[in-house]
Amino acid sequence: MSKVLIIGAGGVGNVVAHKCAQVSSVFSEIMLASRTKAKCDQIARDVAEKFPDRKPIQTAQVDADQVPELVALIKKFQPELVINVALPYQDLTIMDACLETKVHYLDTANYEPKDVAKFEYKWQWAYQDRFKEAGIMALLGCGFDPGVTGVFTAYAQKHHFDTIHYLDIVDCNAGDHGKAFATNFNPEINIREITQNGRYWENGQWKETKPLEIHQPVDYPEVGPKESYLLYHEELESLTKNFPHLKRARFWMTFGQEYIKHLTVLQNVGMTSIKPIKFQGQDIVPLEFLKAVLPEPSSLGEGYQGKTSIGCQIKGIKDGKEKTYFVYNNCDHAEVYKEVKAQAVSYTTGVPAMIGGLMMLTGKWMQPGVYNVEEFDPDPFMDALNQYGLPWHEIINEPLAFTYPD
Ligand code: NDP
Repeated sequence: MSKVLIIGAGGVGNVVAHKCAQVSSVFSEIMLASRTKAKCDQIARDVAEKFPDRKPIQTAQVDADQVPELVALIKKFQPELVINVALPYQDLTIMDACLETKVHYLDTANYEPKDVAKFEYKWQWAYQDRFKEAGIMALLGCGFDPGVTGVFTAYAQKHHFDTIHYLDIVDCNAGDHGKAFATNFNPEINIREITQNGRYWENGQWKETKPLEIHQPVDYPEVGPKESYLLYHEELESLTKNFPHLKRARFWMTFGQEYIKHLTVLQNVGMTSIKPIKFQGQDIVPLEFLKAVLPEPSSLGEGYQGKTSIGCQIKGIKDGKEKTYFVYNNCDHAEVYKEVKAQAVSYTTGVPAMIGGLMMLTGKWMQPGVYNVEEFDPDPFMDALNQYGLPWHEIINEPLAFTYPD
């Protein structure tokens, strides 16, 4: 029986609140706090309607950029765990507040400074000694990617390989939300990620590409072939560190032609820039303004059709022989909407965040310090994925979408 504080009431916060509410034997009391309290209240009402017998979710307003505000809230509610599903900009302030109050921490995206579109684990890994000394744990990047993709890789290493050599994370959203242009998670973070240079790991070093320069069709289960673009994604940093035998690690994501057309135009006219400009005597950041006019990720669920398909394609050595392995999940937007009034990208992020919390609070994954998901035993997490809405499947020793050098 534990108290959990969820920070952030967007698309992902909504799913985390619903899924924690579903497991009342562990998450016995829930507080949802965010910048806009009205959004927390709406989610709390939806959860109460779905789970009328459990203790209602409490809500609060908090500016998670302000450590003293966070500390006051944590001291008042006294949770065992804080789940941060606000934005990556808030990671360090929330970790600071957890250190001050000695409360465990979990997030789904690594820190990036607001004025530079650069996400790296170094800022959060630097908390290792302080978290250990305080006797608390931080679990970093526990969404789907990063998150489940790290657990999938650890599971492959544990059960299928002696050594993993090649890893391709393939992420497809084959859904249609009916809007001309919208992003499936926070627009600012999403566009910053996609418009920066691509990068992948090969033979002990990072290789850089121009944004969306490398692409090829990938055949996704239950979806079919979709053009997929090589991006830099944060789990590549921790996976290449934790699986040092990797000869190559890459991340691929699908984008439709309409999405790319809109993004190109927005880039060409300067709307994706994060450099402030003067507008009617005020400093505004074009990308922040763009976010304000785009649909919120949490509003996309109704009417969303189609599926996501995300997995890890792996090649390596088992018992002296080459082996290929593909582990993946498909998630249906409309099914998810029926369950928690969300779209599948929020769902595939929020369910693993709840499961990460479950692993920590039940002691299955509990160790003072700062960790990425692949550093723990993947088995209980894999079981929980099947149990809580993200069943996974494996394909062993069949041709993969990618060919590999010897
Ligand atoms: P949304 O934009 O829908 O929600 C973000 C929420 O954070 C909003 O409720 C927002 O409040 C709140 N927030 C922002 N700034 C503050 C602040 N200073 N203090 C308090 N609350 C704040 O985003 P998503 O729900 O789609 O994404 C949430 C997180 O999940 C992001 O970090 C994203 O990168 C991550 N993510 C991870 C994935 C993975 O697989 N690992 C995949 C998808 C997302 P307000 O409503 O007032 O704006």
